[in-house]
Amino acid sequence: YRADTLSVFVIGASGDLAKKKTYPSLFALFAFHYLPEDFLIVGYARSAKSDDHFRDAIRPYLKHPHSELVDQFLSHCYYRHGSSYSDEQAIETMSKQIAIMEKSTQKTVNRLFYFAIPPVAFVPAAATLKKKAVGHTGWSRFIVEKPFGSDIKSFEKLNNDMSAVLEEQEMFRIDHYIGKEAVQNLLVMRFANTTFEPLWNNKYIDSVIISFKEDFGTKGRGGYFDKNGMIRDVVQNHIMQIVTMFAMEPPARPTGDYIRDEKVKVLQAIPAIRKDDCITGQYISDDERREPGYTEDEGVPDDSKTETGAAMVMYINNSRWEGVPFILRAGKALNESKSEIRVQFKKSPGSSLMFGAVDSEDGYGTGQEAVERNELVIRLKPDEAIYLKMNIKAPGLSGDPVVSELDLTYKSRFPDQFSKLPDAYTRLILQVLRGDAATFVRHDELREAWRIFTPLLHSIGRGEIEPIKYKAFSRGPKEWDELCAKHGFVYGGASYHWKTT
Ligand code: NAP
Ligand code: NAP
Repeated sequence: YRADTLSVFVIGASGDLAKKKTYPSLFALFAFHYLPEDFLIVGYARSAKSDDHFRDAIRPYLKHPHSELVDQFLSHCYYRHGSSYSDEQAIETMSKQIAIMEKSTQKTVNRLFYFAIPPVAFVPAAATLKKKAVGHTGWSRFIVEKPFGSDIKSFEKLNNDMSAVLEEQEMFRIDHYIGKEAVQNLLVMRFANTTFEPLWNNKYIDSVIISFKEDFGTKGRGGYFDKNGMIRDVVQNHIMQIVTMFAMEPPARPTGDYIRDEKVKVLQAIPAIRKDDCITGQYISDDERREPGYTEDEGVPDDSKTETGAAMVMYINNSRWEGVPFILRAGKALNESKSEIRVQFKKSPGSSLMFGAVDSEDGYGTGQEAVERNELVIRLKPDEAIYLKMNIKAPGLSGDPVVSELDLTYKSRFPDQFSKLPDAYTRLILQVLRGDAATFVRHDELREAWRIFTPLLHSIGRGEIEPIKYKAFSRGPKEWDELCAKHGFVYGGASYHWKTT
């Protein structure tokens, strides 16, 4: 693609996503020299703006120590508007104007259409662009953003409508969690090492907890959030992407449909979540009222039962994972912001006799767990890290076991690269330019994920599940910890202390 001409059409360029993610990511690709020499970016939306007005609006979101690079990038950016996303005349005129600039390069022309619009505009935009703006010499690809429906029925409708207009291989559905450094690393960590893969199954792993925690509430967006809730917002998509990357069988190749086929097989082995297996929560104000309660936010009904957090358990009923609880936790207004995968291994066999308390009568162990279980933690954010909590002999004269860690903290291990780690969106746009769909969500992945969550979401929607109130900035309801404990997670408590140098 780098030898060709590239035109990027940002559809919905006046919006929030475009300025916060799309343009900064395109700029990062430009600054890292990943865009072709001949490229142009044209924003399209309904709001009227001149090219210069538009450039001024996005300039503050493009950060670089060399401001001349920002100017250079912006000189490739244009803006056009029309009366709607199905305004054939405006879209045709825009396409023809761009074609004149493209032609001057005399190279193959690829066109990328980035949909930064709400789903109501997807189908009209796709149909009109397909008719009036796709390129003729190179490829045309379309990036689309979640939400892809709100349950299985609405997903099927949107998917049918979209596939009437676009081929599956033209559509790149973004879930930016797949683009995260630590999620991409799962493939290498699991399949390029001999150490983990033999343990990656129900013989050695006791439970897996995947957590997504935010330390802020809905902050004025409660009215919008209330229609969706945390499960639709985060669990059905981002967390399930982590589950599939974590649990899949080795793909024959690390690309495209090889990976997506394996991810779908994981989802197919997961039964729909029963409402008894999920505990929803809703935050109320903290004592100091640093954060107003969820139902106090604008547009949220006083009697809303929408979950601002949830903990649930699911099982993958295949030969590798049968019996291993996958506990998914996600919540807003909690004590910290973090995303992590926590793998708790089974109790070390024989360790209670070797290291545990001994019964004074027969000299045998009491059977109580004497040492902490091994835990492998893969932290996605903040600050990527992988650490394995393990038992070692306490240094010195004591022979007692003590919990320590094997630690890989990206920030200290890769200080140069760490400060330059690309945003997930940057990585994903590059994958589209390269034509690799492995990091994008296929229709059957979405269908399966919606199948798993739709009955639960409908129960919540009918008001059948009462959310447990938790105070803002707490760790969430105690019932979430009880759910983890019920499914075998053993909290080591204060036995472990993390020491930074
Ligand atoms: P937005 O600001 O609400 O909308 C983007 C643009 O679309 C607006 O500037 C507006 O442009 C146009 N638009 C808004 N409502 C419309 C409607 N009802 N019909 C037709 N056009 C409409 O949305 P956004 O936050 O940028 O997000 C765009 C898409 O990305 C959404 O699907 C969203 O769910 C998804 N997304 C966003 C984020 C984020 O960080 N913002 C993250 C993940 C996913 P004009 O009025 O000028 O046409
Ligand atoms: P931890 O904070 O002890 O938590 C371990 C697990 O137990 C988490 O799932 C946690 O849930 C849960 N938990 C916490 N309090 C609980 C309670 N009272 N009852 C039941 N469950 C509870 O985590 P850790 O892995 O042992 O690490 C300890 C600290 O060291 C953390 O701050 C960690 O970031 C740091 N550390 C950092 C690195 C590194 O940066 N490379 C390496 C090792 C350790 P929640 O997630 O909700 O708290």
